[in-house]
Amino acid sequence: ELRMRYDRDAQERKALLLERDNALKTAQLDNQGLWQTLWALGAGVLVLTIALMLVLLRRVRETNRALEHSRARLRVQSERDALTGLANRRHVQAALHAGSLAQDFRGALMMIDIDHFKHINDDYGHASGDAVLVEVARRIASVTRGDDIVARWGGEEFLILAPGLAGGDADALAQRVLTAVGGATVGLPDGRSMRVTVSIGHGVFPLPPYRVSVAPEQAVNLADMALYTAKSQGRNRAVGIAQVQADSPAALRAVEADFERAWVDGHVQLRVDAGPPG
Ligand code: GH3
Ligand code: MG
Ligand code: MG
Repeated sequence: ELRMRYDRDAQERKALLLERDNALKTAQLDNQGLWQTLWALGAGVLVLTIALMLVLLRRVRETNRALEHSRARLRVQSERDALTGLANRRHVQAALHAGSLAQDFRGALMMIDIDHFKHINDDYGHASGDAVLVEVARRIASVTRGDDIVARWGGEEFLILAPGLAGGDADALAQRVLTAVGGATVGLPDGRSMRVTVSIGHGVFPLPPYRVSVAPEQAVNLADMALYTAKSQGRNRAVGIAQVQADSPAALRAVEADFERAWVDGHVQLRVDAGPPG
């Protein structure tokens, strides 16, 4: 009896132990599964985060590119004349005042004005006037070099700023402009065509022989006076200031005050180049 009970107890204990062992193994397995799930979840979140970050990064990069693009377009718009595509007055003003030029302007300056432009508007209409402006701008730009600035200075007035041009080269450039504009008729939007000429005033600063320093405004003013002389002498011509007998800023200012007088008195030597005959 006793032996039987002992055996039964022993068997029960063994069963119990086995049961516990099983439970432990199951729990261990459960635990392992949980860890695997956690790892898988973690990896999933990581992959998602990286993908999201890549998308965001690309979006930011695209936005930056678009921003840079529109900034560049704005910069071009603020420096260009909308009708002709040439540099505008603001841009050329900035170039005229860049660095040491603001006190001591150096380089060739050319003012170009279309002759009798008001008649073109009056006789052919404003749209034709605009077409003439665009074509004249194109022809002027076509005879300049890469480092020259060609600008629309005002309504039908253009300016060339050529930093590295010597006196003789400025005369040649003026001649090229006269020929480019006046040498062939300009086609109008309505199919007609007409001859357009320009008058030019120019100088290479500082002016020989004394090479007195000038401010950009003074250089513009002197080129403008040469242009006025070209107009009064009959248009379709270029007037270059070859020499000014002024050995001080005060003497130069006196010339500026009455340019025509200074010319008549022989203080100013001009060089005149005629445009193509009509
Ligand atoms: P001159 O030979 O003395 O230079 O005579 P001009 O008729 O060319 O000069 P004026 O200054 O009397 O006339 C300039 C005209 O240019 C007057 C103005 O209506 C016209 N104009 C200015 N800007 C524009 C523009 O953008 N488009 C058009 N179609 N005309 C313009
Ligand atoms: Mg004018
Ligand atoms: Mg004019």
